[in-house]
Amino acid sequence: MKIAVVNSGSSSLKFKLFDMPSGKVIYEKLVEHSGEGIESLDVDFADVDVIGHRVVHGGEKFVGSVLIDDEVINDIKSFIPLAPLHNPANLEGIRVLRKKYPKISQVAVFDTAFHATLEKEAYIYALPYEMYEEKNIRRYGFHGSSHSYLLKKAAKILGKKVEDTNIITLHLGNGASACAIKNGKSCDTSMGFTPLEGLVMGSRCGDIDPAIILYLQREYGYSTQEIDTLLNKHSGLLGLCGNSDVRDILNAVDMKSKLAIDIMVRRIQKYIGSYMVLLEDVDAIVFSGGIGENSTQIQKAVMNNKIIKNINYLVIKTDEEFEIANECLKILKK
Ligand code: ADP
Repeated sequence: MKIAVVNSGSSSLKFKLFDMPSGKVIYEKLVEHSGEGIESLDVDFADVDVIGHRVVHGGEKFVGSVLIDDEVINDIKSFIPLAPLHNPANLEGIRVLRKKYPKISQVAVFDTAFHATLEKEAYIYALPYEMYEEKNIRRYGFHGSSHSYLLKKAAKILGKKVEDTNIITLHLGNGASACAIKNGKSCDTSMGFTPLEGLVMGSRCGDIDPAIILYLQREYGYSTQEIDTLLNKHSGLLGLCGNSDVRDILNAVDMKSKLAIDIMVRRIQKYIGSYMVLLEDVDAIVFSGGIGENSTQIQKAVMNNKIIKNINYLVIKTDEEFEIANECLKILKK
């Protein structure tokens, strides 16, 4: 069976064609400009059985993957205010492919769905409760396909059943998130209402005191848009040392570059520490994403702690597209 996976982002589109269930990649391409860029794919869709789409935000409604129909599209649209950059780009990919290939089944796989198992004390913020009820303000969590893939791989390596596996997964790429997985279920995760919360990322600040935003508005007269850009695009490693590429930063010798790495590593350690307490038993810490998979220096720096070093750690290359292809297979079997 041939399964096409589409990850349609705001500036590019990642495409992979899998032979399933073998998982062999038959064709892959990164296209600049999503949506209509699909035209440039050298793929004969006549023998594609199903198309899987990555969708970033599934709100509270989607706790698993679904076959796409008009109603699903309207629901994804309704979550645009929660993910104004991502969901419109994901929808554009869906729109173009549905129009071109109306007969091929298409499946939406949500980044948020893996975290549908979070308990209320993990996902409710300490704001007036009506903010949750009226405006859906809560922790959603992201990178779900990656954390889910890492869980299954880690369970296999550890020789455990998924439902008996307790791990802390670290997806460390340009975007980065940690997940505490208890008995095979996401029990807490560092990204929150949006993918801005949590770890120090390439250009996103992660956790900060929310009062800083009010201060910036008062002191600099920043608009909402300016603050959005500052926190998402000009902060994190880039804001700290002028570069967001960890390879370059590790090679640099200036004070700010060293500090940027130290801040990033400390934040990861703080999350590991708090997740160790939540999980009580931890089978392994899993490093993944471009930084986690490739940088032994970062792995060592994170593990260099009297408490953390007692835990086993694994390095696993993540594969979100393969996870999405597997989800399509599951939906098709239903
Ligand atoms: P994205 O979130 O965009 O998919 P990636 O998972 O590809 O990002 O991760 C990108 C990050 O991985 C960059 O900061 C890059 O510097 C870092 N990275 C890639 N290879 C290495 C390496 N060998 N050592 C350290 N960092 C690396």
